[in-house]
Amino acid sequence: MGIPSYTLLPHEATCQSPHDGSIATALERSEEGHPAMKIVVCVKYVPDATADRTFNSDNTVDRTGVDGVLSELDEYAVEEALKIRDAGDDCEIVVLTVGPDVARSAILKSLQMGADAGVHVLDDAIHGSDAVGTSLVLAKAIERQQADLVVCGMASTDGSMSVVPAMVAERLGLPQVTFGSQVTVDGTTVRVRRDGDAATETIEGTLPLLLSVTDQANEPRYPSFKGIMAAKKKPVDVLSLSDLGVAAGDVGADAAWTKVQQSQQRPARSAGTIVTDEDGTGAAKLVEFLAGQKFV
Ligand SMILES: Cc1cc2nc3c(=O)[nH]c(=O)nc-3n(C[C@H](O)[C@H](O)[C@H](O)COP(=O)(O)OP(=O)(O)OC[C@H]3O[C@@H](n4cnc5c(N)ncnc54)[C@H](O)[C@@H]3O)c2cc1C
Repeated sequence: MGIPSYTLLPHEATCQSPHDGSIATALERSEEGHPAMKIVVCVKYVPDATADRTFNSDNTVDRTGVDGVLSELDEYAVEEALKIRDAGDDCEIVVLTVGPDVARSAILKSLQMGADAGVHVLDDAIHGSDAVGTSLVLAKAIERQQADLVVCGMASTDGSMSVVPAMVAERLGLPQVTFGSQVTVDGTTVRVRRDGDAATETIEGTLPLLLSVTDQANEPRYPSFKGIMAAKKKPVDVLSLSDLGVAAGDVGADAAWTKVQQSQQRPARSAGTIVTDEDGTGAAKLVEFLAGQKFV
């Protein structure tokens, strides 16, 4: 499955998907009374950044013994899907996570925000998967959903590799429009503004495609009381690797291309240097310290 080729034109780019035209599927869906567009949002469950991060004996991150949350950067992905629906697009929003049992709270938070349904890929064989393995499981789960639009966060807040969206797009043969800080959907056309250090690009693509959004794209809503109550009744599919037709040997620590050899606790932060200004020399001492640290 080759990467769709496109040439980036200054400020504007168009790309056409080689996909088999789930547009037709969307129309069929609306004729069958289903929402015309299906959006799948990939959300990751991560250790709470405020909690101490600990590692298991196999050097993987302990995700069950510590508090965990929906990755903060994925709240922007959920919110972007909700905004597309609020803009009047007739769409169904499914949130998808790959993770241990506790990861279902990432789905619950997304349903409380307003997503319609969840898919949780839960299988012990996934433990220790690297980005390559994770992207395989996600792609297989998305394929089942026949999504028109896949939305991801710009990165997770634990591995923070920013590679999974591109890997998923490659596996599905979908055009990818990443790091969108402003998104508009006009029928089957998705237009994204991407703010780089040196330039701002406007990229346009045609559904079906994969999109990732930055933390500048929107302001995630807080779940309302009504949303929290409604989420309890929303459907969540729990799938195993065999449900997806993924061989256990293709994921997990043994299949990982990268292996964490060793992990150790970060040394406790030292108190640091305290500069007190008793005789007006405080500023000079501060400059001396900053110069000494080559900060200035
Ligand atoms: C500290 C640390 C270091 C790591 N180092 C490596 C490494 O060097 N190489 C390697 O291959 N793996 C590494 N991993 C494992 C890697 O984090 C996982 O495989 C992970 O699932 C994918 O990478 P990521 O979290 O960096 O995702 P990113 O590439 O940052 O993912 C971005 C987006 O993809 C989606 N996404 C990612 N994971 C999931 C998921 N499980 N469920 C649903 N959506 C998801 C979300 O929308 C997310 O916003 C590391 C993990 C940790 C915690």
